[in-house]
Amino acid sequence: MQIDLSNKTALITGSSKGIGLSIASKMLKANADVILNSRNNDELSETANTLRENFPEGKVNSAPFDLSETKDIPNWFEQVSNNYGPIQILVNNAGITHRETAKDIKQEDFNRVLKTNLNAVLVICQEFFLQLQNRPGKIINISSLISNLARETNVAYAASKGALNQLTRTLAIEWATNGINVNAIAPGFIHTDLTESLVNDEKFNHWVKTRVPMSRWGNPDDISSTAVFLASSEADYITGQIIYVDGGTIATI
Ligand code: NDP
Repeated sequence: MQIDLSNKTALITGSSKGIGLSIASKMLKANADVILNSRNNDELSETANTLRENFPEGKVNSAPFDLSETKDIPNWFEQVSNNYGPIQILVNNAGITHRETAKDIKQEDFNRVLKTNLNAVLVICQEFFLQLQNRPGKIINISSLISNLARETNVAYAASKGALNQLTRTLAIEWATNGINVNAIAPGFIHTDLTESLVNDEKFNHWVKTRVPMSRWGNPDDISSTAVFLASSEADYITGQIIYVDGGTIATI
């Protein structure tokens, strides 16, 4: 099956590095145009330039913005869509964590994680819905294995991703007859900047290598092919699903 995303534009949030960057690369490889986003403008420009070199046929635009500023999302989205759109594929990938026990976490830290990982997703999806004006579209939310499993010191992240699964399902059923597919990918333990400290933590690293059935950390490219598939017409009848890409972890623990 050769997936072709020609004449499609994908907005991928949090795509300066990690999983988002891998999704942007694979979408460009499948002939989509991409709009990159992150907070750090310099890093984003560098990523955009590298992608332009690697995919000279593709169109790569950058839309730096801090998604935790949820009230400004409508203006930002309108500008991005007017300048580089229309957008047919939305990948809500930007995400952060704050590692602290439930007993100690402060409201402001909890809220910051929720705003980025959950509230921002709803607002972008609402803007995307308006922009589509009943034309078909694909939404792919990047959830997590931790939407369904608990690990200590990750209360804000786990709460945000659990809610993101339910947001995904609700949008999917409400927008099914509008031709908008809404699905989530739930990655397992993937080696990126977000997890660098855990990879370097001997005890945690050992846990991953012994409890993940495939006995290894995933890498961003393990995740991005599923995003390309969900963005394509091959997935037109799939909506409201949470797809675990986790080396077998959820099946066993
Ligand atoms: P990285 O930390 O490598 O990348 C996160 C990206 O999001 C960066 O581009 C970052 O850029 C951007 N970002 C963070 N906050 C914001 C914000 N407020 N506004 C705009 N952009 C933002 O993380 P991963 O690639 O590992 O994670 C990507 C997604 O995958 C996240 O949603 C994460 O929860 C999920 N995930 C990751 C797993 C893993 O093991 N790595 C496992 C399960 C899920 P900048 O900081 O410059 O803004």
